[in-house]
Amino acid sequence: GSRKIVVAVIDTGIDYSHPDLRSNIWTNTAELNGASGVDDDGNGFTDDIYGYDFSSDGRTELHYGQLGDADPMDGYGHGTHVAGTIGAVGNNAQGVAGINWQVSLMAVKFLSDAGFGAASDEYRSIRYATKMKAMVANASYGGGARSQLIEHALREAGAAGMLFVAAAGNDGSDIDQFPSYPAAYALDNVMTVAATDSRDRLAWFSNIGAKSVHLAAPGFGIISTYPVKLAKEEGNIDPYRTFSGTSMAAPHVAGAAALALAADSSFIGKPAALRTRLMATADRLPNLNGRVVSGGRLNVANAVDPTYVAQPDLNDPTLVWTEEAVDFRTPRFPTERVDYAWPIRKPGARAIR
Ligand code: CA
Repeated sequence: GSRKIVVAVIDTGIDYSHPDLRSNIWTNTAELNGASGVDDDGNGFTDDIYGYDFSSDGRTELHYGQLGDADPMDGYGHGTHVAGTIGAVGNNAQGVAGINWQVSLMAVKFLSDAGFGAASDEYRSIRYATKMKAMVANASYGGGARSQLIEHALREAGAAGMLFVAAAGNDGSDIDQFPSYPAAYALDNVMTVAATDSRDRLAWFSNIGAKSVHLAAPGFGIISTYPVKLAKEEGNIDPYRTFSGTSMAAPHVAGAAALALAADSSFIGKPAALRTRLMATADRLPNLNGRVVSGGRLNVANAVDPTYVAQPDLNDPTLVWTEEAVDFRTPRFPTERVDYAWPIRKPGARAIR
C-alpha cells in the first residue's frame, strides 16, 4: 500500500489514536500545523485534522459555525473495525494487518455514537470526502430512502475520481427487487458488496442483486480493530473484536481498491475502470452466479497482479468452444473425503470451462 492513497471511512468515526491505526490515519497537514480555532486550509471546516464529525444527532447546535464538530472519534466501534480491515498497520507485531499495511484513512463521521445518522449528514460527509480528495470511500451503512441529493453528491464524487464502495446490507433480500441505499444507486463509481464466509458460501444474512451487487468478499467472523476506550469500558481491554456483516465485506473491497491504486497509478481518477478490474479479477463461484454481477468473490492478489489477465465472460457469444478429454488421477485411494485441484493449461485459449 501507500500513504498517498486516501480512503474515506464514512461511518461512526475512527479511533485515530488506536496503536494499530495511528500511523495510517490521514492528516490534514495545514490544520495539524495550524492554529486552533482557525480554518487553516480554508476548506470551510475548522480544525479538521483527521477528518470531520458531521453527526448532528438530529440536533441543530452549531460548533465553529458547522453542525457537528472537528473530532471524528469513534464512540461506537463500527467505523474503527471497518478502518482496520482497510488499513490496520502491517508488520508491527501487534493485532491485525489491514488489506493495506500503509494507507491514509480519513475519518468522516456521520453516524452517531449509537450508530444512527441522518441523510443530510451523509450528504455533507460525501461532499467533504470529495473535497478533500479521497480516492476511495467505504460506506458500510444503509437503509436510507433514495435521495436525489445524495445521488448527485455521488455523481460529483465519481467525476472527481472517487470509487464509492457500499455494503449490500444484511436483510437476506434481493436489492434488485427491494432497493436499499446507497447500495442500489446505479452509478458507475458505486460498487456494492455482498458477504461470504470462510468456505466461500454466501453469508446467510447477505443481500444479493444480480444487477446492483457487484462482488462478494469475506464478511463472516472478521477480526479487526476496536476503539481502545470502548474496549476498556466493556471490560475486555484487548482493542480488537470479531464482527459479521456486509459492513465487514465492503472494507475488504475498499481496501483492495486502495491497494490496486497503489500498485497501478493508471487507475487513479478512473473509478469505473477500477470497479471493472476488481470484478474481472474475482474468483467466480457457482453459488454466486446470478446473485452478484461478477458472479465472484474478491481476489486481491489477482487485482494487484499486472500480469493477471482476467478470464472473459463465459457467456460471451463470440467465444468458440472446443472439447478435450482430461485425465484426473488421485495420488492414492481416498479413505476420507478430500478435495484435489489440478491446474489445466491450454496455450492460446482465451477461456477454459
Ligand atoms: Ca480546515
